[in-house]
This record gives sequence, C-alpha cells and structure tokens, in this order.
Amino acid sequence: MKIDRSFKKLSKALPFMLAYVDNQRRYKYVNEAYERFFGVKLKELKGKTIAEIVGRSSYEKISQLHDKVLKGEELSFVDKVVLNDGRTLQLDVKYVPNFEGAEKTVNGFFAVINDITDYASAAEVLRAVHDVVNRQSKTLSTDRINKLLRLGCHYLNVQTGIVSFVDGHDYIVKYAYSEGDPIPPDTKFELGETYCSVTLAADEVIATAHASDSEEYSGHPCFDKFKLETYLGLPVRINGKVWGTLNFTSPETRITPFTELDIELVGLICSAIETIIINSSKTKRLEKLAYTDFLTGLTNRLFITERFAELQAHKTSANNVSCFAIIDIDHFKSVNDTYGHDAGDKVLQQTARTIAELVRVSDFCSRVGGEEFAIILEDIPLKTAADVLEKVRTSVEDMIVDIGNEQNVSITASIGVTQLTEEDEFNSAYKRADIALYRSKDGGRNQVQWHEGDE
Ligand code: GH3
Ligand code: MG
Ligand code: MG
Repeated sequence: MKIDRSFKKLSKALPFMLAYVDNQRRYKYVNEAYERFFGVKLKELKGKTIAEIVGRSSYEKISQLHDKVLKGEELSFVDKVVLNDGRTLQLDVKYVPNFEGAEKTVNGFFAVINDITDYASAAEVLRAVHDVVNRQSKTLSTDRINKLLRLGCHYLNVQTGIVSFVDGHDYIVKYAYSEGDPIPPDTKFELGETYCSVTLAADEVIATAHASDSEEYSGHPCFDKFKLETYLGLPVRINGKVWGTLNFTSPETRITPFTELDIELVGLICSAIETIIINSSKTKRLEKLAYTDFLTGLTNRLFITERFAELQAHKTSANNVSCFAIIDIDHFKSVNDTYGHDAGDKVLQQTARTIAELVRVSDFCSRVGGEEFAIILEDIPLKTAADVLEKVRTSVEDMIVDIGNEQNVSITASIGVTQLTEEDEFNSAYKRADIALYRSKDGGRNQVQWHEGDE
C-alpha cells in the first residue's frame, strides 16, 4: 500500500491513534496522535519490525493476533498497558487487514487505537455509585459512604476523601478514607482553617491541582496548615441546606488538572452520599418511632425485648448479675372508672417519669402493657435491685397527680423482681417476675416481692 498525501492529511485529523504495518510486520506509518501518545516519531519506527521495537519476548505474546489479522481476520479487543509512571491505561484496539490485487492478498493491516482509560474508570464509578445507592440497602450507611470515598480516591488518583459535617465554626470529619495516615471520625478542625471554607464561601465546586499557585489558596491559612496541593471539594446539601462538604485531597500536585468529567462524577458521588445520609436519618427516625411508647415517651415492649436478648448475648462475666422487674399499677381500672380515661393517661405519664428518674441511665425502663412497666437493672444483685425498687414503690405512692379541675389522684404499684440466669430469655424472666408480682398483689398490693430464680 502506498501512503499518499491525502491519506496523511486525513489521518492527521483523526482523534484516535492509527498505525499501518505491512505483511512483513514492519511499521509503514503512524499518525501524530500515535506519536504523541507513545512518545515516538514515525522516523524512528518506519521500516522497523514490531518485534524490534517492542522487544522479541514482548512480541511473542501478541504475535498470534498479528498472524490472524494477516490471514484476513478483523480483530478488536481491549488492552491494558502500564506506563513507566505507574498509571494503568486501557486501550481499545482494532486491527483491520488491508487487501490488494485481484487475489485479495493481505499486504498489511491498520491498527486503530483509542485510549478509553477515562471512559472505563468513569463507567466503573457509575456502576459502583449505582450499586451503593440501589443494591446494598442492608449494608451500613458508614460502609457505603466509605466505599464511595475509596472509589473516588482511586478514580481521581488522590490520597484522601472526606465527608465533613459543618456546625458553625467547626469542621467535623464524619467519614474518611485515606491511603496515608488514617483520619478518625469526629476529628475536629476550625472551619476557617480548612480548604472547605473556601468551597462553602463560594457555594460551589472548587478544584485545584496546584494550590500553591492558585488564587484561592496561596496565602490562605488552610494552605499553611495542611499543605495540600490537590483539592476537589463541594458542599453536601441535606433538604436544601448546606450540611457539610465532600472533598478529595492530596499533598502532591496532580499530573493532569481535573477534567469536567472528574467534576461531574464527584458531583454524582456527592448526591449518592446525600441520599445515603438522608435515608439513614429517616431509618433512625422510624426506628425511634418503632421503639417508643407514644403515651409516655418511654421505650416500648419491642425495645426492651431486643435489649434483653442483646444483653444476654454479650454478657461479659458470670459474676455480673442483672435483674428484671415488672411494675404494675394497683387498681388502675378504678382510676379510669372514677376520673375518666384522660385522667388515667395523666397518671400513666407521671408514673413513667417517676420510674425513669429513679433508674440509672444504664438501666432500661419500658412500658410493656397498659399500666405495666418493665426494667432491666444491670449489674446488681437481687437484694440491691429490691432496694432500688422499694424506692420506686414509695415514690409512686408519694406521687400526687394533678388531673385538672383542681382534682388530684394518688396511686400505688405492685412490683415483682427476679435475678437473671445465663439461660434466661425475655419470656422466662418475665414469667418469674410476674409470679413475684402476683405475690405482691396477693399480699395486699403496694409492695416489692422477688423470685430467686431457682425456686
Ligand atoms: P390490679 O391491681 O390487679 O392490677 O388491677 P388493675 O385495675 O390495675 O388491673 P386491670 O388489668 O384489671 O386493669 C388495667 C386497666 O388499665 C384496664 C385498662 O382500661 C387500663 N388501661 C390500659 N391501657 C391504658 C391506657 O393507655 N390509658 C388508660 N387511661 N388506661 C389504660
Ligand atoms: Mg396489669
Ligand atoms: Mg394493675
């Protein structure tokens, strides 16, 4: 094949790399895009065989492909090449045979090569964002955000990715991924000393690959403090308000500046993170609702049942005994009957407050039935628990509930308590506490009774 002037002109304008190799596997022609990408000149290649250029042993690996194309087969494949600076590139390669004469013999082939590295890694980010947002709803939100940060760091080729929460003048690290020293969550910085203060002031994406040269950062206190050359950051917004920032940083300058595609993709990662944060706070709100008793604000039966199981599963030592108690208001039906249901509700609310004030923060107290409360008293033996409960009993007895219309109501409660065994489940402990409770009722109410467990 003859390489003529118009072919050269056309190939010069092509955005992809083009080479022509004859059937002796000698370079005949490469275009400028090819010269630029591989850092070679046509002069150095022309007339030389591929084996001479890439080395005989490297060539053995690809020679079969050339055998095929020289037999007239068209080939296309994706090739990964590792450059001297450590970057891995993905190339989309097409070999097209060139036929000549009436016999249609193959006199060489064209190699059309496209660098699809950006496209390939962008596709990888898109896939992962999709996965993280849609497919892994059971994974913890922290793990999902950390995964996005790691992905962003790899895609952008930077050291650190952070999601910060901004509270007044405080910049608080919420999630972080770093290939350098780890940055623990809740690390606090003065907002004004961070690169993100610039981002928040601008209220948009800020990107620099050379901070010491940039207008925004050279001379800014953040540069003196952190000495980061590469920064890409944007505001994280929840329900339309700025919540914090997402930023990717490196102490080194980048070989190439950030592209529009980079910024687009980081924007996408940011909205994925916003979605995860919103959903996790919704989940927390729903969880709170599911575990709360609406009337008294105490936790409910579901909550104490689950805490009970957790406590039993994580018991650290057999020496630490805990107790379980049920508190039941005496003759509560008659409160309703005499003063009305609303007055009954007020009594329940005040009883709940009285009990909650008397138990420690480490103890769990829930409303488990109409006028029935349950408490797990952690790490105290039965006799001590009974003393605490005796205080609860007298406080309930001393309560004066204002039910409106200048009327007051007083009540008493009966209490049953038992010490937990290692084998106890919620129901078995409940059953024993209930036996003790009925002893209190039978014994005349307004008292604490206990069940030893091995009775
Ligand atoms: P005892 O001393 O034997 O425990 O008698 P009691 O009247 O307290 O027990 P009983 O189980 O007969 O009655 C409990 C009452 O609690 C009946 C029910 O109407 C009332 N109750 C249950 N839930 C609520 C509530 O949310 N608000 C009000 N006001 N009353 C409730
Ligand atoms: Mg009852
Ligand atoms: Mg009762």
